[in-house]
Amino acid sequence: MKAIVLQGQWAPKPELRLSPEHQAQRKAPGSLAWKDPRYEAQTIDDPTPGHGEVVVRVRRVGVCGSDTHCYETDEQGYVLFSGPMVLPVVPGHEYAGEVVALGPGVRNLRVGELVAAEGMLNCGVCEACRSFKPNQCPTLEMVGFSAPGAYAEYITVAERFCWSLDGLAESTGSKEQALELGALIEPISCPYNGIWVAGRGMLPGEHVVVYGCGPIGLGAIALCRAAGAASILAVDLSAERLKLASALGADQVVDPRTLAPGELSALIMARTRGWGADLQVEAAGAAGVLMPEIETSFAPGGQMVYLGRTGERAPVMLDALVTGAASINGARGHVGGGCFPKVIRLLEHGRLPVGPMITAHMDFGDFAQAIEQSCTRSDGKIMIRV
Ligand SMILES: [Zn+2]
Ligand SMILES: [Zn+2]
Repeated sequence: MKAIVLQGQWAPKPELRLSPEHQAQRKAPGSLAWKDPRYEAQTIDDPTPGHGEVVVRVRRVGVCGSDTHCYETDEQGYVLFSGPMVLPVVPGHEYAGEVVALGPGVRNLRVGELVAAEGMLNCGVCEACRSFKPNQCPTLEMVGFSAPGAYAEYITVAERFCWSLDGLAESTGSKEQALELGALIEPISCPYNGIWVAGRGMLPGEHVVVYGCGPIGLGAIALCRAAGAASILAVDLSAERLKLASALGADQVVDPRTLAPGELSALIMARTRGWGADLQVEAAGAAGVLMPEIETSFAPGGQMVYLGRTGERAPVMLDALVTGAASINGARGHVGGGCFPKVIRLLEHGRLPVGPMITAHMDFGDFAQAIEQSCTRSDGKIMIRV
């Protein structure tokens, strides 16, 4: 089958500490161990399904910011992506497709069914998995980084990570539309998990601020709008992304470069009549500059959900958490917690108008161009037809 393969050179930095298993697997944070990355178009073997697995004919796959981070490098040539990687790997983890083969022991899926699949492959048997923290499974494999991904014609995936899109195909009256929306479920499920599963949630009538309007931030905006936020302020550097934020439900948008330090938190306090933000979602990976604004604009009992990623330390005045009974919750992933099926239901019933998030369509053969374009960071989601 046709596939894209991400190649790179194993060059662990001296500060990298690995367990013997991870050393043997060469499974390490990309930014500490993998350099000189390149995406290559290749022909590789068709997959066969193991026990409990299905083969999915991939039909749509979205380009994720982390795919961009596996292409971009620091000045020493290391990839920017800081999650665990094992190269070479077929990348791609935001996908939807059609089940074309069933392995032995598959219970609920049938050939021809349209599915979206979770991309965090938790083991299911360790203590984290069995204590409702599946995204923190210590042996988690990530589709497209440490396990084969979806920039390929076919992918095998365990049935337990798949969710049917048949209802979505029925409600939209279009299989193509269901596949298109299906490939957005993964990035929307990350803020769902961060806010409602890992975090304390958001109540109708609360004030929300979302920092960073890439797909995760845009998903947060659409979800908080659907959940009855009183107001949503969106913050980003890109005019195009701020336009998308408005389309998905933000009431006000702001480019922080137009404000002096301290003015953003002042704006939040003013527009909430001195109450502050009940929920602040950091999906920018810029906590280093944002924390001073966030810590001074919490509502009493306010919550920050941190979804962005950066290896840098952030300056934070923890006393603000004491005074305001505020909290910071980190979260990653989307597996477990029923995020996928709930996002699918919202889509099915027209409660998440996220279609405008897709700002470009490309064919599989134009993958190199799609990755180049993603580096401009002006798109919502670049969707690839496989
Ligand atoms: Zn992603
Ligand atoms: Zn586990």
